[in-house]
Amino acid sequence: MAESAVDRLRRLLADVADLRGAAFLLTWDQATHMPPGGAAARARQLALLKQVAHERFTSPALARALAAAERELDAIGAPDGGIERDLVRITRRDLERDAALPATFTRTFNEHLASSYQAWTEARPADDLARMVPVLERTLDLSRELAQHLGPAEHVADPLIARSDHGVTVAQLSALFAQLRARLTPLLRAVAAAEPPDDGFLRGPYPLAAQFAFALERVREFGYDTRRGRLDPTHHPFAIEFSIDDVRITTRGRDDDLREALFCTFHESGHGMYHQGLDPRLEATPLADGTSAGVHESQSRTWENRVGRSLAYWRYAFPLLRDTFPQQLAGVDEIAFHRAINAVRPGVIRTQADEFSYDLHVIVRFELELDLLAGRLAVADLGEAWHERYRATLGVAADDDRNGALQDVHWFSREIGGAFQGYTLGNVLAAQFWQAAERDLGDLDALLASGDVASLSAWQRTNIHRHGRRVDPLDLVERVCGGGLDPEPYLDYLATKARDLFGVSLDADEGGRRP
Ligand code: ZN
Repeated sequence: MAESAVDRLRRLLADVADLRGAAFLLTWDQATHMPPGGAAARARQLALLKQVAHERFTSPALARALAAAERELDAIGAPDGGIERDLVRITRRDLERDAALPATFTRTFNEHLASSYQAWTEARPADDLARMVPVLERTLDLSRELAQHLGPAEHVADPLIARSDHGVTVAQLSALFAQLRARLTPLLRAVAAAEPPDDGFLRGPYPLAAQFAFALERVREFGYDTRRGRLDPTHHPFAIEFSIDDVRITTRGRDDDLREALFCTFHESGHGMYHQGLDPRLEATPLADGTSAGVHESQSRTWENRVGRSLAYWRYAFPLLRDTFPQQLAGVDEIAFHRAINAVRPGVIRTQADEFSYDLHVIVRFELELDLLAGRLAVADLGEAWHERYRATLGVAADDDRNGALQDVHWFSREIGGAFQGYTLGNVLAAQFWQAAERDLGDLDALLASGDVASLSAWQRTNIHRHGRRVDPLDLVERVCGGGLDPEPYLDYLATKARDLFGVSLDADEGGRRP
């Protein structure tokens, strides 16, 4: 029997997915086991695999196969919402997005970004923002050009945001972030003024191998499947997938800080479980991925913060931790531990921020990005603007650019615009999904305290993971939560945490504060 058009399309898409999976395997190896001498050859190998995958995806053969599959589905009257319809819809969307970019533009931009990243790795330790100003100016021009290629939009950043958070716009985000800022600023101020907890016992020393083993045991209980994954140490933790049945996570740790390995591992396990939870029928297709950066981050934040920084979970897990480190944790109970891992000290580093400050770091970057793209801020003034925003928003400022405008890799390794909103969308969505899970499962704290963490990951698999990219992010939120983006569950969660942990509650009347 002749191969159907949809099967032919699937076969060509599987080749592309496997080439990308092979490139991801090289990336994983580069970040975990590769000796430094392998760097030059690895860069060539990665570039070649990505190029071949791109050529296969944008080939005339694949375009013909896609068109034939669309005709075939029309001819047989395939229903909307079926997996084949979703496959051709998302493949068409990806192809159009790729086709909008001239090959010469993509090559120019990628070459520029490679040299920008290289310059940043030297400029940041040297605290040399001046060196990066002309580089960033060029990145900004190319980012605007990228947005133009991607199509007309209300705001220049909209097409850039759509690449990672489909359907989300600057207008929506500006309203959402304004609400968050109005409520988080006074909450942070109040929490930071409270008596800081004793967290000296977190400094150990704690042997790293025992920390990693403990963290791995916990994420296996969450539902991260080590028959289809593994955990390795690295410098900048990430999750990466070569197929639905091989999804790796990485972590890092410090022997003088018990938090790092725990929360990095919990975070990455959330990303990893998302991929492991995809419907197996999506294997080796463009549907086999998270639906957006924000939804992906909501899964990692759920395990890192909602579970990992909750008292309920540590009522179950703290005795296990104390059994692992009996000397270091002698005389400490779960209540003291919970207070210590939630200590609030407003600082200048986003990745070290507590839950009360984290989104303000993101909002500062998002607003600076928009100002740069809209031409309201010159790159030459970025360094000072960064410090001013920090003083105004978080009440602290770095005394150098290394921990200011040079802090994050994002603007130096990719386009400016579209990178940061996903982190805060993740926090907001994690709270909305948590509320929906409680509606279905009952009191989640009671489940966690009893050591039942698997019910939550099973719920995520059914309601979120298995769909992959078949359901667009805002449609998923509507389907699972019965509404749109809503900061209230998240703000409620933080307000409750501030009250329970620090005895802080805000007056009802001013500054956007709530009763
Ligand atoms: Zn993440």
